[in-house]
Amino acid sequence: MSDCLFCKIRDGQIPAQITHRDDHVIAFKDIGPKAPLHELVIPTRHIASLTDVTLADTDLLGRLMVVASQRAKHSGQAGNGFRIVMNAGPDAGQSVHHIHLHVLAGRPLAWPPG
Ligand code: 5GP
Ligand code: ZN
Repeated sequence: MSDCLFCKIRDGQIPAQITHRDDHVIAFKDIGPKAPLHELVIPTRHIASLTDVTLADTDLLGRLMVVASQRAKHSGQAGNGFRIVMNAGPDAGQSVHHIHLHVLAGRPLAWPPG
């Protein structure tokens, strides 16, 4: 999608610290980290919201989760645990409309979130 921030990061039009890239999934460091480890894991294909996915996206959604887990594991910052979050819609605080998992680790993470 031409005016999507994360599509632009995918296409190299906006710089980002990419930590993983394959045919289906990209991970990169969040520009405003909320924890010592804070990466975003996105599908290469533009999907605006988790409410837009169908069962045809099951494999892709699984891939997002696997890459997120691997990023936590390989970061060296998640030995005490980590959290994977996807915000959907305004009440959840979704601000970029290209689905993304947040991977957070490196400090105690309060529950429930705000
Ligand atoms: P959301 O609020 O939609 O769940 O998460 C969007 C995330 O994207 C936020 O954590 C925010 O810091 C991050 N973000 C916003 N703009 C940029 C950017 O230009 N580059 C990177 N790497 N992250 C961004
Ligand atoms: Zn996009």
